[in-house]
Amino acid sequence: MPWLYFDITSPLITFVPYTLNMYRTHTCGELRLADVGREVTLSGWVQRNRDLGGMTFVDLRDRYGITQLSFNLEARPEMTEQARKLGREFVLQVSGTVTERESKNLNMPTGEIEIRVTRMQVLNASETPPFTIEELSDGGDELRMKYRYLDLRRPNMQRQLMLRHQTAQAVREYLNSNAFLEIETPFLIRSTPEGARDFVVPSRMQAGQFYALPQSPQTFKQLLMVSGYDRYYQIVRCFRDEDLRSDRQPEFTQIDCEMAFVEREDVLATFEGLLRHIFKQVKGIELPEFLRLSYDEAMEKYGSDKPDLRFGMEIHNVTALTRNGAFPVFEQAETVQGICVPGAAEWSRKQLDTWTDWVKRPQIGAQGMVWLKVAEDGSLKSSVDKFYSESELKTWAEALSAQPNSLILLLSGVRHKVQKQLGALRLAIADELGMRSADSFCPLWVLDFPMFEFDEEQGRWFAMHHPFTSPYGADYEEVKKNPGAVRANAYDLVLNGSEIAGGSIRIHSREIQETVFALLGLSAEEAEKQFGFLLNAFRYGAPPHGGIAFGFDRLCSILAGLDSIRDVIAFPKNNAGRDLMIDAPAEIDAQQWKELNLKSTL
Ligand code: ASP
Repeated sequence: MPWLYFDITSPLITFVPYTLNMYRTHTCGELRLADVGREVTLSGWVQRNRDLGGMTFVDLRDRYGITQLSFNLEARPEMTEQARKLGREFVLQVSGTVTERESKNLNMPTGEIEIRVTRMQVLNASETPPFTIEELSDGGDELRMKYRYLDLRRPNMQRQLMLRHQTAQAVREYLNSNAFLEIETPFLIRSTPEGARDFVVPSRMQAGQFYALPQSPQTFKQLLMVSGYDRYYQIVRCFRDEDLRSDRQPEFTQIDCEMAFVEREDVLATFEGLLRHIFKQVKGIELPEFLRLSYDEAMEKYGSDKPDLRFGMEIHNVTALTRNGAFPVFEQAETVQGICVPGAAEWSRKQLDTWTDWVKRPQIGAQGMVWLKVAEDGSLKSSVDKFYSESELKTWAEALSAQPNSLILLLSGVRHKVQKQLGALRLAIADELGMRSADSFCPLWVLDFPMFEFDEEQGRWFAMHHPFTSPYGADYEEVKKNPGAVRANAYDLVLNGSEIAGGSIRIHSREIQETVFALLGLSAEEAEKQFGFLLNAFRYGAPPHGGIAFGFDRLCSILAGLDSIRDVIAFPKNNAGRDLMIDAPAEIDAQQWKELNLKSTL
């Protein structure tokens, strides 16, 4: 059935029974054959208008659906004349009798009835909208963002925002029933050096000083644990002034959570429960088992720390099998690894060249690609036939468990680069072959992340998660001595190739926190200045604690089966960080510059 009309019986839409008022007795989505004969009043927008001579039909739309109105020229000439002239998006109120339709439309829930209109009032006229307000609009992105309030009238946008609402309700339901408290934390805080760039807000009253908008409520939620609130959550806006990659929003929403007196397993169990509850409530789906992979395993098998497990095509290391002294490229490489694409032995030379060019693009950065076809009859053919014997090639096919009619693709080079390149290739091929179905869901936890990453350019260590994450099974002596080897007590929840949540067990000892700050290049004075409040709080009985935050926009987009988070945000920014509707950011006037003690660059 086309997604053209709402099905108000769907669990996605909480149907609020109408309240009888002067504008409507029913919504445009609810009348059925059983209502035939009723006198009703509806209000809504004109979706379209068809004049068939003696009869005129108008589709009236609201967020619950569409109901057909009929006007009979003979019975009511004046009103029918008026109905003929109604433009798209006029706002109407009509009263009439629910009647069985002669030609029924079983594709829409109200398709068996129509309203024979006896009274009509135009509540407001509308100019012709700049694009069609239908599921598949004819308007381009920019135009639809400029007129977002019209775009939001489209049935799919309305369904998406209703789904977002329902997801938020499911989150609250679950967390409330698990003793979590919803507590707000401030939006005007101080700027801190770690993490992404802050958005800053000049203070009028303290000349020359700035607030920052929070990148997350991280330190506040930890302080709430120190204060004894034991289980906290918030569906909260976070702000990061990053260069906008596609589908990043400068402001986005997290389901932010923290718990005291817990270990990693408690957090994993609690939030596995949350995701299960959401899927059950919103999609009626029972999620499969949550797999677990260590960071190293995820990188080795899938070339990504957020692997998509909806399909196989795992990465295999065949370095040892390629060492026969003949093929210099493989001889010189640290590693040779590959994936096996099922059903692809028939790929043409041209297709293989296209994929080779694809991996050689600077974004991927491979030097070249070797292929090996395993035909339906098991015979082998490869791009390196002259360097390897048939029996050698066979060992590769075995190592990759290649079935008849499959294609092995191999890349070589430095280990961590080859893994990432194959990880990207694996996803792109799966996309091409339609192996990433929007209605299958494979959740997993990725664990045992490295605690620190060394940045060659800046010559210092960075926290891979954030500086408040505790080391896993290492004391602070080890953190000091060998930071590169220390694992973090951090976890990511991954769904279909997206990191939907991430968190950690936190440091709650002042000494370890100071050690980590020092390792991250923060002097004792700097640490005191930036994070003195937290270090001080740790002096007064901080309980062991840990938490997690879900990317709420991404979660909603996955639930809606959409790629873009913009489609589940009511008023998003474009790729340049602009709100095209209100035209922000915008200049401020000279008086504001002055009051804020800023020097105007105007
Ligand atoms: N505050 C972290 C983040 O925004 C999540 C967490 O550790 O709870 O990524």
